[in-house]
Amino acid sequence: MTTSPGLLLIISGPSGVGKTTITHHVENALDGVFSVSMTTRPITDDDTNGVDYFFVDKTEFERTRDAGELLEWADVFGNYYGTPRKPVEENLNTGRLVILEIDVEGAVQIKQNMPEAFAIFVNPPTEDELLRRLRARDREEEDVIQRRFAKAKHEMARASECGAYDHFIINDDLNTAVAEAINLVKTELANRNSVNEAAK
Ligand code: 5GP
Repeated sequence: MTTSPGLLLIISGPSGVGKTTITHHVENALDGVFSVSMTTRPITDDDTNGVDYFFVDKTEFERTRDAGELLEWADVFGNYYGTPRKPVEENLNTGRLVILEIDVEGAVQIKQNMPEAFAIFVNPPTEDELLRRLRARDREEEDVIQRRFAKAKHEMARASECGAYDHFIINDDLNTAVAEAINLVKTELANRNSVNEAAK
């Protein structure tokens, strides 16, 4: 196992839990680098290509994956998502905090290959509250919401038993959850620095 000077942080959670907001707060507070994933899902009005994702077709995704240029990949809701390897490795080698916002299957793959990664899973306060938030987004029909909700419950169960996550936080109040995530990462960074100092 080769360890790089940077920290690889994984943040996961079911849709509607607020993980993207938490991720961007952690990124800003700790000068992190957000890893832009590659996806085959259609671009929406809320997305900027190259900022939120690199939007590609299936052929391009498969070419990239088969060339070994993805650190991990998963099929989420019938679309492919993957983490480009090169920018992650380059930023870790220069000591940066690199943040992956990926699903549970991706986190399991990363932890197998890079056990030094630090992984946080964001849970809602209750399942009912998650359903309420999914409905409040007012983006989808009820049948799509119910499918997302079923997938979310499966993902939360899988996260708790897969062993990939170092910490679980609850997003009840957003500011509290953000502070908790930042503190966990700060503590991890400090622990690793003291281990490195002791090894010198
Ligand atoms: P969305 O399309 O709503 O932005 O993302 C759908 C799901 O895909 C989320 O759970 C998100 O965390 C996950 N995801 C985004 N990028 C990646 C990636 O590169 N790899 C994996 N495994 N999951 C990803």
